[in-house]
Amino acid sequence: MQVQRIHECNSRDEQRGSFVLYWMQASVRGQGNLALDWAVEVANRKKLPLIAVFCLQDRYLSASVLHYKHLLTGLAEAQQVLADKGIRLYIFQGSPLDIIPRLAQHAALAVLDTGYLRHQRTWRKTLGELLPCRTVWIESNVVIPVETASVKEEWSAYTLRRKITPLLDDFLDVSTEAVPVLTSLNFDLALEVVPLQAVELGSLFVNIPGTRPRRLKGQQIAEPAGHSAAMERFMDFIRTKLDSYETGRNNPLAEGTSRMSAALHFGFVSPLELVLALQQELELPRISSCDHPGAAAYLEELIVRRELGINFCYYNDYYDSPLGLPDWAVKTLSEGNLHPREHLYSLENLEDAKTEDPYWNAAQNQMVKTGYMHGYMRMYWGKRLLSWVGDFETAMKFAIFLNDQYSLDGRDPNGYAGIAWCFGKHDRPWSGRPIYGTVRYMNAAGLRRKFDADTYATLYK
Ligand SMILES: Cc1cc2nc3c(=O)[nH]c(=O)nc-3n(C[C@H](O)[C@H](O)[C@H](O)COP(=O)(O)OP(=O)(O)OC[C@H]3O[C@@H](n4cnc5c(N)ncnc54)[C@H](O)[C@@H]3O)c2cc1C
Repeated sequence: MQVQRIHECNSRDEQRGSFVLYWMQASVRGQGNLALDWAVEVANRKKLPLIAVFCLQDRYLSASVLHYKHLLTGLAEAQQVLADKGIRLYIFQGSPLDIIPRLAQHAALAVLDTGYLRHQRTWRKTLGELLPCRTVWIESNVVIPVETASVKEEWSAYTLRRKITPLLDDFLDVSTEAVPVLTSLNFDLALEVVPLQAVELGSLFVNIPGTRPRRLKGQQIAEPAGHSAAMERFMDFIRTKLDSYETGRNNPLAEGTSRMSAALHFGFVSPLELVLALQQELELPRISSCDHPGAAAYLEELIVRRELGINFCYYNDYYDSPLGLPDWAVKTLSEGNLHPREHLYSLENLEDAKTEDPYWNAAQNQMVKTGYMHGYMRMYWGKRLLSWVGDFETAMKFAIFLNDQYSLDGRDPNGYAGIAWCFGKHDRPWSGRPIYGTVRYMNAAGLRRKFDADTYATLYK
């Protein structure tokens, strides 16, 4: 594995310990997990067993019961895959900042996988300070490690693409071979382990005061949970949809995209695995100079756009706030705040999809009913909010709230970057109009030109 993927959380030495500790948080999988593989290698070298731990935290970023159910399904598979390798994955209920330091007292070394949001960065920093042993974080959920891709917040996909493309082939040179485990575990952790089957969803998911109970009846989730379901879906996508992806991806009726976002969000699959599978299936010699139109368009989304979202959240603490928007967008949207809105909707009206716009309502319904909204409709959905909420700051807050509550892939760098994009981030000024100022505008006529929007509206009425 490339050394750029491996980072130290502190300057402590490895200590005499009874095991190597791997805290699984953002990579819920037993395969294609470079943090896990690295931890196994170290444990083998030290002739110590490896202990893997997942901390099930209640009210995690206001996650709904839907998110927890999905996570638990993927966790059960990861637990089984690890067990087959001879590694026990312990599930504890509680905060990692409480659990990991207690376990690490007995560990020779601690290994963390990597998320990029504020609280995940804080966890790493705090654990680096609290743990008595060497603590390492490993980037297995990106193609190019975030600081290698760029040392600063990037302006746009264009500026990041130029930096990432020359690095691609080198960073795709990773082994996906599982590392065999040499020493098995014989150690009492002396902490209460939660059997996965006994986890009570009700104890994790608590309605946030001031919001309404989530609607759950009649939900039809089609997103794959766990590594094997996700890989199966992905291979089917490559074989049946990739050829037409370049043109089909913007048609919400075509079902032409990979539906990998939730699996990537939960860490059930890694983008490295997806890119390598695609490369192998299409027999592409080099990813950086891919000449298959569908694959090139897909790799742009999976690598450049996704890692632009990660770059944004890693370097900008205000990724979920108007303070994270570029100055030109804040200025023009502030002016737009002074324009009267023809219709004003409350958060409840929006949540219930009760607006004058049947296309927007359908998009909102698709998200609530299926946990997924088509990517093209997400852009329209986010931008439309500006014209119905009194000011852009509140429109952005509502967008984040709804997306995080109802999208299975919500609470993700892509979500914060996608919403910020609706308000001008990673974009440039366009011609001006009321409310939106020079922020790019999308309207219903544009939807109708692209696809049969009325059929979409009927589908998710
Ligand atoms: C307002 C708004 C909100 C969004 N919220 C989320 C979110 O909460 N979670 C989320 O993962 N994505 C979000 N996106 C980005 C994008 O719409 C979804 O990733 C994509 O639609 C997921 O469907 P798919 O997996 O079938 O995508 P595919 O078209 O098959 O793309 C493959 C992968 O590439 C990445 N990707 C695709 N489009 C984008 C994009 N525009 N930006 C960044 N990465 C991309 C995703 O990881 C996706 O799974 C949002 C976009 C907007 C405009």
